[in-house]
Amino acid sequence: MIAPTHPIVNQVDDLTGIDAATDRVVGFALDRYAPWAAGRAHALGELVWSTEALDAARLSHRHPPELRTFDRTGHRLDAVEFHPAYHRLMGWAFSHGVAGLPWAAPQPGTHLARAVLSYLWNQLDGGTACPTGMTYAAVPILRGAPGLDGWAERAAALDYDPSPVPAGQKRAVHIAYAMTEKQGGSDLRANLTTAVPATGRRGPGEPYLITGHKWFFSVPMSDGWFTVAHTEAGPSCLFVPRYLPDGDRNALHLQRLKDKLGNRNNASSEIEYRDTHAILVGEEGQGIRSILSSADLTRLDFAVGSAGLMRAALSQALHHADTRTAFGAPLSRLPVMSPVLADLVLEWAGAAHLGFRLAATADSDTEDERLLARLLTPVAKYWNCKRAPALVAEALECIGGNGYIEEHVLPRYYREAPLNAIWEGTSNMMATDVARVLAREPKALEPYLEEARLAAGTSKRLDDALTRLEHLATHPGQATGRRLISELALTMQASLLVRHAPTAIADAFGASRLDGDWAPTFGTLPTASDHTAIIEFGRIPQ
Ligand SMILES: Cc1cc2nc3c(=O)[nH]c(=O)nc-3n(C[C@H](O)[C@H](O)[C@H](O)COP(=O)(O)OP(=O)(O)OC[C@H]3O[C@@H](n4cnc5c(N)ncnc54)[C@H](O)[C@@H]3O)c2cc1C
Repeated sequence: MIAPTHPIVNQVDDLTGIDAATDRVVGFALDRYAPWAAGRAHALGELVWSTEALDAARLSHRHPPELRTFDRTGHRLDAVEFHPAYHRLMGWAFSHGVAGLPWAAPQPGTHLARAVLSYLWNQLDGGTACPTGMTYAAVPILRGAPGLDGWAERAAALDYDPSPVPAGQKRAVHIAYAMTEKQGGSDLRANLTTAVPATGRRGPGEPYLITGHKWFFSVPMSDGWFTVAHTEAGPSCLFVPRYLPDGDRNALHLQRLKDKLGNRNNASSEIEYRDTHAILVGEEGQGIRSILSSADLTRLDFAVGSAGLMRAALSQALHHADTRTAFGAPLSRLPVMSPVLADLVLEWAGAAHLGFRLAATADSDTEDERLLARLLTPVAKYWNCKRAPALVAEALECIGGNGYIEEHVLPRYYREAPLNAIWEGTSNMMATDVARVLAREPKALEPYLEEARLAAGTSKRLDDALTRLEHLATHPGQATGRRLISELALTMQASLLVRHAPTAIADAFGASRLDGDWAPTFGTLPTASDHTAIIEFGRIPQ
């Protein structure tokens, strides 16, 4: 018998059974850029909110990976054991194209379509979104790299093959990146790890032996890693396969697994290289440039990933607030709650549009879109990753005490939320990157302003913001660092919403975020805002 002392009323069931691809911003992005991908998006949109997938995500975080350093007899194993639920997640993610779609199905809008898939996947799980994002970004460097034949095709496969055998024997591989060392992750020039030619021959495609360590080494059961080590010519990019050409395991010694705040189903380890076999990628001394050539794609992935996490938290908050009542009405209709929910909708809508606009640049080969991406990448990575923790915390409060309990999914979102701002270039590094672009490639500002100006003349506040931004960006010293990157993000978001979202959304966003008619907490929109229309826009149509 359940609860003999009282009836159970006004509790909210788990949110499940929705199709996350009916999200209105997803619908807009697919219609505009990749209508052919709608079927794929709906298939994944239904999967990520199915009971089966939600259960797999829960189990994989409840039973995090375990390190097996040695076997019973003392021989090194350097293996990580995962709960079967983790492998199910990896299988779903890779087979649905969250990593490989653009490379396996190159057609117009395919990077945007993959960004939508990643946004949907991040609503289910951030841990497995790490290997999907890294593998996605790895394919362009693997392609045509001397000495790495066959790797790009296997990394692009819409498949997951965890078998512990050399890559040549596998249907599919997944790839990770190993840059960070104990003394610092932002400044890769300070790396201490060294690489020397294994055969005396130097140059791209030649074998090297690496000695040193990596302090954060995620997805240690990957098939290969891009890493940075010093050669005679300076920091160089090398590719480390998990297995040697003769089938033996490469010398990659796992020291321990990190006991992390979140992202717990994804193993992150500390490792030692001892004469570890690797292939040089690009020229010696050009390693930072080589490895950063894939950073545009990983940063794009985190921008849409954080938007996906925001979407998931918003969906949970709306579901709860529409179902639970207090003081005689659903929470979502209470006069102090509805502005909070409306504000969360604005934040998510701005993040999703910003992420998808950036994704669309990856599908273009025009010079203007390349330049736009150069500036928009750090802006969207910075802004979306930075706003996610604030939105998730507010969504948690909308759910109240029930959202603070581990059986609810919100604690997992909350622990996940800060991570994307840290890896693949911290917030400060993104702000620094914007300053670098404006100093070295100032013509990137023009397509950025052109894009934002597409909404010029629609409101005085947007015109004022454009004028202000133009002034700040062209007068170094007047606004730098985080101030400038924030203005770049908000003005672009406002422009996108004016053009592509209902008037209620664009007006309230502009009034609060551009005009400053807002206190810096959610729920403080101008009273004239149409909260009902804004919240309706945020609901997932059924
Ligand atoms: C869960 C997790 C998994 C990870 N997995 C991997 C992985 O697989 N591979 C990998 O290579 N790394 C990985 N990392 C490491 C991650 O990339 C680094 O943490 C990140 O690059 C920052 O480096 P750091 O931690 O050494 O911080 P630091 O570089 O020491 O920076 C600390 C702070 O100082 C700021 N700062 C640094 N330099 C400047 C500057 N010039 N101006 C202004 N501010 C500055 C930074 O913005 C940051 O706020 C992982 C990290 C986490 C948390």
